[in-house]
Amino acid sequence: PNPVFATSSTSIFEQISRLANEVGAINLGQGFPVGFEPPALIEAAVQALREGPHQYPPMMGLPALRQAVAANAKRFHGLNVDWEREVLVTSGATEALADSFLALLDTGDEVIVIEPAYDAYPTLIRRAGGTVVPLRLEAPDWTLTREALQAAITPRTKLIVLNTPMNPIGKIFSEAELDLLEEVVLAHDLVIVSDEVYEHLVFDGARHTTPFSRPAIRDRVVRIGSAGKTFSVTGWKVGYVTADPKLLGPISRAHQFVTFTTPPALQTAVAAGLHFADSYYVELKSSLETRRDLLLGALRREGFAVADAPATYFAIADVSGIDPDGDDLAFCHRITREAGVAAVPLSSFYGARDVKTHIRFCFAKPLDTLEDAVSRLSRWR
Ligand code: PMP
Ligand code: GLN
Repeated sequence: PNPVFATSSTSIFEQISRLANEVGAINLGQGFPVGFEPPALIEAAVQALREGPHQYPPMMGLPALRQAVAANAKRFHGLNVDWEREVLVTSGATEALADSFLALLDTGDEVIVIEPAYDAYPTLIRRAGGTVVPLRLEAPDWTLTREALQAAITPRTKLIVLNTPMNPIGKIFSEAELDLLEEVVLAHDLVIVSDEVYEHLVFDGARHTTPFSRPAIRDRVVRIGSAGKTFSVTGWKVGYVTADPKLLGPISRAHQFVTFTTPPALQTAVAAGLHFADSYYVELKSSLETRRDLLLGALRREGFAVADAPATYFAIADVSGIDPDGDDLAFCHRITREAGVAAVPLSSFYGARDVKTHIRFCFAKPLDTLEDAVSRLSRWR
């Protein structure tokens, strides 16, 4: 086997979910929402399954979905996207990431990965022949600085992977940080793979800004979205890529030999979802805000050092003050087994696994589940 996959382990999300199921813990570890699936989305899928078609849809994706991706980008981000030439449907954002790395990297190209980073990036980059260059953001501000960015760049740098809003820390990259990225991308002839799967999960009136909205680098940004996050159906694996045809061409050729297509009924339903009225998006945010506020408030009352969570459905806690072993992975195993509440360690989001101070909770759960989780944690402490 290829060493990249021969030496990689089962993802932390799968590991922790398995343990949580085994011991009957409340699973706030793996990021998946409970109870948010929009009935109209499910109905659209059921109807599409009844009516068909059931055969291979076009390789680029159903026109209705590609049009809906472009219309949604116009409505929420003011983007002008040519759906025929600039939108590709993939089987989840994960496939979109894999296609992008396969299509855009050559052996030895360097890719800057901003840590803490989603676990799929480094492995997929390496298997595509790239070399991962980690760029760490530091707690508690997690700010991208000019010094850190410049220090990560070499003559071999090809791509920067941006994840905004950012899993696991819930950060929204600011305009100033995007200015910096724009400057560096132009100065060094780079491309940004911009993972924006949490684009609609931003709270307290904050706005998500995509680097794709910047005219100077519009043709250097691969923007990736996911219906799994926008419609709380993580098992559906419907993703979409928006990029200039010069980038989308090779990415779609990678896609045609990775999955070729995505189930047509799910594409039809997601197209309907992307056209849902603004109220759907407003309610999604506000019900997540309510859950976030409950979890953060209750955890803080119990003495957990939880950071603000301005976006995504994740909250992180600094457990260095309460974890005697200084080992976030062991700590997550302990609270899963002993308290009956599962969380994931942030060390899994670092290539070197050496930052062991924080754990992540997912708050996209029913309110009583969150209350139960916090009372279990407080009894355990
Ligand atoms: N990127 C990030 C940052 C994620 O958190 C996730 C969700 N697991 C994905 C990509 C993958 O999305 P999908 O399930 O659509 O493949
Ligand atoms: N993105 C999800 C998370 O961060 C999990 C995805 C997965 O299980 N592979 O928890």
